[in-house]
Amino acid sequence: MTIFHISAECFPIAKVGGLGDVVGALPKYQNKLGETSSVIMPFYNNKFTHSHTFKKVFSGRFNLGRTFNFDILTLEDNTLGYDLYLVHIPELLYTDYVYSSNDTERFLGFQIAALDWLVQLKTLPDIVHCHDHHTGLIPFMMSQSYAYHKLRNTPTVITIHNGQYQGWFSHNKIHLIPPFDFSKAGLLDWKHLINPLASAIKCAWKVTTVSPNYMEELKFAANGLEDLLRYESGKCVGILNGIDDKVWDPATDDSLIKNYSVKTANSGKKVNKEWLCKEFNLNPELPLFAFIGRLVGEKGADLLPEIFNNSLYHKNLSIMMLGSGDAVVEQELDRLKNQYPGFYNTYIGYNERLAHILYAAADFLVMPSRVEPCGLNQMYALRYGTVPIVNKVGGLKDTVEDFDNSGFGILHDGATVQEGSFAIHRAINFYNDTDRFKKNRNLIMKIDHSWDSSAQVYINLYNSLIL
Ligand code: ADP
Repeated sequence: MTIFHISAECFPIAKVGGLGDVVGALPKYQNKLGETSSVIMPFYNNKFTHSHTFKKVFSGRFNLGRTFNFDILTLEDNTLGYDLYLVHIPELLYTDYVYSSNDTERFLGFQIAALDWLVQLKTLPDIVHCHDHHTGLIPFMMSQSYAYHKLRNTPTVITIHNGQYQGWFSHNKIHLIPPFDFSKAGLLDWKHLINPLASAIKCAWKVTTVSPNYMEELKFAANGLEDLLRYESGKCVGILNGIDDKVWDPATDDSLIKNYSVKTANSGKKVNKEWLCKEFNLNPELPLFAFIGRLVGEKGADLLPEIFNNSLYHKNLSIMMLGSGDAVVEQELDRLKNQYPGFYNTYIGYNERLAHILYAAADFLVMPSRVEPCGLNQMYALRYGTVPIVNKVGGLKDTVEDFDNSGFGILHDGATVQEGSFAIHRAINFYNDTDRFKKNRNLIMKIDHSWDSSAQVYINLYNSLIL
């Protein structure tokens, strides 16, 4: 079966968060299962496109208020584990960022160019798998736009990685969508706006979310799409994300200061911790707590300054924070450095290598998220022998069990300062129970969250759609 994933992000080409990790891994695992799974994404102006060479497989032009030329490029030399097709629209997508304020035009152009190429292929795809709102108009265009008539019987799947962002825009831009029977315009609309994510939920053959629990939560909190998701629940299913266990393997990860396996976890983690603590002026004798992520409300980032302040007061732990986002939260988190030198530090920004080292160096990873569609960080933490401390929400609820309830992590019930601070207090007690803590470390490293099983679940889902 030929599957095309269409996405704004794909690791290692361009990644902002978990979407990139998923699209960079899932096709690889689907190919391992004998399918032909490829990725279509924008050609950005970034390190990856500068350091690789490409060949052109198609050229075209489309109208989006005016004419835009585009090329479809593929790698000369590909070791990714899946075919990669990059949509090069110099005037829209060749930017050094992934997202910006004119994303309506940028991603509309991306979707139109991708379909203009797909529709003329000698062998049409068996499945078109869209990811998030940036590709949400594809199911509509494939089923309604005259230009893509040949693709109308090709099944489409939309995966919701984050339902809060929907990409809505005004109806006065409806003329930018390739011509279709206007009586079908309702399929684009939600609450008097063109809403790409809502349209995808209406038009795709299947809707998936990145964890089963998130699917249920969206029926009650989906930034306005609750009713729609309840109405369409017959075609909705939650499939837990996996992790790329080749990229995220402490035994081979070349970002680490020292590699380690389950057997050598204690000594291996110690070397990484000592390096990190030296680099960031922290005490390596104390349990090390980490936060890695976007500093936004969904991640509970606004709670962190107070949670950290409460915990650091006792000076019995070290904390390292890696992230960027809300400017006020960034400032508050940075300010704590003056209060607790030697116990607390931050790296404000995005740093892929530091994230890998931090998963390896830390004893605990804190995730007081309010919303977590799946969450990959807790799964990376487990694989690196780091205990996740998580709020019981979304995919975190599906993947972490509390150590006091014959589990292996720390769960708290509610994204509040009190719950978060108390969870850290429990973690320190757990850490001080040395034998139990070390046994737990070995246990969590063996939990299999690789894509092997979920990739098969997606294949089964596609098979159910092929007539
Ligand atoms: P989301 O996609 O909502 O941001 P996920 O948990 O699904 O959250 O994925 C987050 C991914 O982004 C992980 O791979 C994590 O390590 C990475 N990440 C987030 N912030 C940073 C950062 N500041 N530096 C490096 N990696 C980061």
